[in-house]
Amino acid sequence: MLTRLHLALSALLLATAAMPVFAQEVNVYSYRQPELVEPLFNAFTAETGIAVNSVFLSKGLVERLKSEGDRSPADLVLTTDISRLAELVAEGVTQPVESAALDAAIPAIYRDPAHHWFGLTSRARVIYAANDRVADGDVTTYEDLASDKWKGRICTRSGTNAYNVALTAAMIAHHGEEDTAHWLEAVKANLARKPQGNDRAQVKAIWAGECDIAVGNTYYMGLMLKDPEQKAWADSVRIIFPTFEDGGTHVNVSGVAMTKAAPNRDNAVKLMEFLASHTGQELYAEINDEYPVDPSVPASALVTSWGSFTPDALNLMDIAHMRPAALRLTETVDFDG
Ligand code: FE
Repeated sequence: MLTRLHLALSALLLATAAMPVFAQEVNVYSYRQPELVEPLFNAFTAETGIAVNSVFLSKGLVERLKSEGDRSPADLVLTTDISRLAELVAEGVTQPVESAALDAAIPAIYRDPAHHWFGLTSRARVIYAANDRVADGDVTTYEDLASDKWKGRICTRSGTNAYNVALTAAMIAHHGEEDTAHWLEAVKANLARKPQGNDRAQVKAIWAGECDIAVGNTYYMGLMLKDPEQKAWADSVRIIFPTFEDGGTHVNVSGVAMTKAAPNRDNAVKLMEFLASHTGQELYAEINDEYPVDPSVPASALVTSWGSFTPDALNLMDIAHMRPAALRLTETVDFDG
């Protein structure tokens, strides 16, 4: 059970680490990394005079909000992945936000119909293909990954990773559980090695000749190109945007939700609207190598150079609802084993 000591400790950490007193402020709990979002917070403060206090976490955010309850200092949560956004809502730690500005900037497929979460950036889950060993047209769909021709040629991170669970959940939404189980089994049979490492580790394995194609998120291309040690990995591959046979390219989002407690609600709405504004969306595009959700704001020149694609039309909440089934199937076929 969570104790008063835990609460006191949380309060102490907040007071000492990140919560100076300002006349106008907004408090953010973030699963997103400081270097990704602090430039946006700084721009918001410069424009509005409202200070943004942030606490960066790598886990336990929902538990923390639940233990703090009505006394939580947090106004907003920033996180990646539809499953995490849906979990916040399911756990009852958010509240709806009605905002004409948010509804105008963010297409309906990238926000909660019940107004509890709003997507701020999107990313596609794509195929990284060896430049010298994979021809154009060799792989065009996610279903293709199950083809015999890829035997011993695919690398991927764990099937239980949130990004892969979302892809598998989308496969269920398109084809049902039985076909998806067969797909998972066939992809597993094509793997060059047991699932391991993160998305970039798969591209490194292509560079090293261990496999020819890998599944990964788009923005990692940008991160690798900017890292002197990883640039050679990035240079050995190109991005292919696969589609579902009966759909488009699988996308996921990072997004924001208002906490139930939100002591600075008005300021929090202002920050949400800033993140979805042209200025906010342009900053996201330049800093994160992600796609703005606002279709009137272009992706960065680098991201645009990777090619264009049609996002799958599935509602992200439908993907979130399939997540438990996706996880169960992944474990049933022993994908990582
Ligand atoms: Fe990531």
